[in-house]
Amino acid sequence: MEKPKQPGFFPDDRLAKKSLARYFAIVSNKKRAKFLLAKKVPTESGSDDSSLDALWKKHEKATDAFLDFEHQVDAGVDFDAVVLPKESYLDLKVKIATKTLECCNFCSRRCGVNRLAHRLGFCGCGNMMSVSSIFMHLGEEPELVPSGTVFTMGCTIRCKHCQNWTISQWKEAPMEYKPAELAREVENLRLEGCRNVNLVGGEPTPWLAHWLQTFQHVGVNVPVVWNSNSYYSPETARLLAGFADVYLLDFKYGPGDCALRISDAPNYWQICTRNHLEAKRYGELLVRVLVLPGHLDCCVKPIVNWIAENLGVETRVNVMFQYRPAWRASEVPELRRRLTQAEMDKALRLAEQAGLVNLVS
Ligand code: SF4
Ligand code: SF4
Repeated sequence: MEKPKQPGFFPDDRLAKKSLARYFAIVSNKKRAKFLLAKKVPTESGSDDSSLDALWKKHEKATDAFLDFEHQVDAGVDFDAVVLPKESYLDLKVKIATKTLECCNFCSRRCGVNRLAHRLGFCGCGNMMSVSSIFMHLGEEPELVPSGTVFTMGCTIRCKHCQNWTISQWKEAPMEYKPAELAREVENLRLEGCRNVNLVGGEPTPWLAHWLQTFQHVGVNVPVVWNSNSYYSPETARLLAGFADVYLLDFKYGPGDCALRISDAPNYWQICTRNHLEAKRYGELLVRVLVLPGHLDCCVKPIVNWIAENLGVETRVNVMFQYRPAWRASEVPELRRRLTQAEMDKALRLAEQAGLVNLVS
């Protein structure tokens, strides 16, 4: 395995390091990324025509085996001495995810289209990994930069204020990648000094099968950051366990009808809260709360209270103020302007009143 360059900067922040301890250990090569561990956990998926139900049962057992193995390696078992199995937990994930493309349910829309037969669902994603850009990103949270960011096309919801609308709505000509080609790009990002590979879009969810296939070819130790709108299915959450090291999850709407009205995202609160709980169970979590004008009491307040009560007051949270009207934001009266100083102050006050003590500053 090639040794990536050591990034030189770590935020001097005790709580950031505590909530992302394993991530920091992977960045400095003291621990292994989950996808590398997953390659060493043996499974037997059976014949190629095994049903998805049968594969999921094997996946459940293999997840337990993975968690045991992760614990052993983190406690000092010699990772290099463990031989690669004929078929691994990561291979099993690839098999399940590839079959899922035949009747897509990666996100909560559950379109059921056969993407292998070139049918398209709500997100517009087909069967060829479609990438907008790949670069070293310096504008993410301090603990993530420099971040090796891969922007993929399409999105599973449709925010009228989308800043990345040319990507989420397929208004750009994408670059197409095969898994082994994209794996070289991922390795290069790490070897150039990126701390992580940041899977984002649009939305990474429709491309989960392609991402898992890609990481079958990646050989460097690099933490995987799953940078998502949180609107994915329970099946996707199960495949992410043992793959995503850091869940960088958006949480932008409260339990009312804002998500449906602004982002065409039915049942957003239920889906988003479920996925945040799963993320905390299987990885490390950084939550992004995008503050929208006029959405303090209906959205920010219930979100920060829910985080404090259900994920803990030490959860790493980025209360984000960079909203600006974009794309079709003018269709929503309160979204036609930027935030006021009073709204920003109130959002921080709400987070503090909820008891959150680990805010990105
Ligand atoms: S989730 Fe993000 S990328 Fe998708 S439509 Fe909303 S703002 Fe755009
Ligand atoms: S990922 Fe795309 S095709 Fe699959 S269920 Fe979601 S919107 Fe539909």
